[in-house]
Amino acid sequence: MRLSRYFLPVLKENPSEAQIVSHRLMLRAGMIKQSAAGIYSWLPLGFKVLRKIETIVHEEQQRAGHIPMLMPTLQSADLWKESGRFDAYGPEMLRIKDRQDRDMLYGPTNEEMITDIFRSHVGSYKDLPMTLYHIQWKFRDEVRPRFGVMRGREFLMKDGYTFDLTKEDALHAYNRHLVTYLRSYERMGLQAIPMRADSGPIGGDDTHEFLVLAETGESEVFYDSQITELKFGDREIDYDSVDQCQAVMEEFTSRYARTDETHDAALFAEVPAERQRSARGIEVGQIFYFGTKYSEPMGATVQGPDGKPVPVHMGSHGIGVSRLLGAIIEASHDDKGIIWPEGVTPFHVGIVNLKQGDDQADAACDALYASLQALGLDPLYDDTKERAGGKFATMDLIGLPWRITVGPRGLKNGVVELTSRRTGESEEMTPEAAVEKIAEIYRGIA
Ligand code: ATP
Ligand code: MG
Repeated sequence: MRLSRYFLPVLKENPSEAQIVSHRLMLRAGMIKQSAAGIYSWLPLGFKVLRKIETIVHEEQQRAGHIPMLMPTLQSADLWKESGRFDAYGPEMLRIKDRQDRDMLYGPTNEEMITDIFRSHVGSYKDLPMTLYHIQWKFRDEVRPRFGVMRGREFLMKDGYTFDLTKEDALHAYNRHLVTYLRSYERMGLQAIPMRADSGPIGGDDTHEFLVLAETGESEVFYDSQITELKFGDREIDYDSVDQCQAVMEEFTSRYARTDETHDAALFAEVPAERQRSARGIEVGQIFYFGTKYSEPMGATVQGPDGKPVPVHMGSHGIGVSRLLGAIIEASHDDKGIIWPEGVTPFHVGIVNLKQGDDQADAACDALYASLQALGLDPLYDDTKERAGGKFATMDLIGLPWRITVGPRGLKNGVVELTSRRTGESEEMTPEAAVEKIAEIYRGIA
């Protein structure tokens, strides 16, 4: 993309409504625009990152054999009356009447709808196990929408639902989700720690939340510092293997890590004092096993091996896709702006032309731009007439992890400059070497 043809409405001033750094930087980098309290338009740069996060989530879900689909945002209230949650859910649910005076709602989650789909079409235990998921907008009329996309009213969530014949199978599905989540967050450059949590209005016994440590997090968390040393990395895993998924689950949840809702001071005291930590965290996902809570009242049964109908064991598993943008920025920024991890960056590399209009500099930039694109990379070329300082400030603000700077002086010696946004270190090299280095960095990521 050439910046002169893009829509990147960056702000020079700090917007006064933003209380935390991720919200401030998303507004300043022209990623979002508020349209009503807790409701945002995703401007091109923000939309690009949102799509990247969605893609990672899709890939990791499908790698584990989970099946993508799409359910509507607007739901009929009937199913919610059946489960008993239409009255139980409270004022967070946006209730709407259509022109026939029918009760409708903007879905805050989809357990009822997926259970209805399941009971209409699945009849035998032989069709299990099954995991269906979608990535769809949700609406929760939060009392205090704040912090930009972090606590929105309309927000994008991946929600997956598991159907199994037995509790044992359902717990395998639970562990399998834990593995997919660990992989997804790591690909986004994040460490998200599974912590024992409280089940809230969705209900159930087994549940973990995934928390990104950050001062601005809304949850209070307590953990054994050893847990922050764990990495999933690029290990191979067979998602059908009960033992392998169970082993990862145990590895990542055996140390003390809890949110304030389930915090147990006596247990925490058993952690060696030098490893006890209390901090703040951002919830970026949650997994639940809730058994037959919905399948029983809603009659979602399958014919078991003995021919008798049995209610299926279910779980639901969510990732806060839009909240993740805020969480990533909270975890990765400096006083100049955002620092995108390579896995989610909106553009792979920025090209800064120090002397737009200079034939040699323009030609070198055009050639760089073309060779990067030919390798399947997505550069942002600042081809505007802005002065160099302004160009650098914009690149730093929007946080592309790599920048190639091109100017007449370097070109005389046949070199350009490659700069890392994270370390600030620059290296001179030929344009070909810069392209090769960028390609190398993104091999296996882009
Ligand atoms: P919270 O405790 O933050 O209100 P929740 O536990 O009610 O969240 P879940 O039902 O577990 O939310 O939803 C799955 C994920 O969706 C959460 O882990 C979170 O990342 C995200 N999420 C929930 N509410 C919001 C919101 N208002 N804005 C943005 N993301 C949200
Ligand atoms: Mg939750």
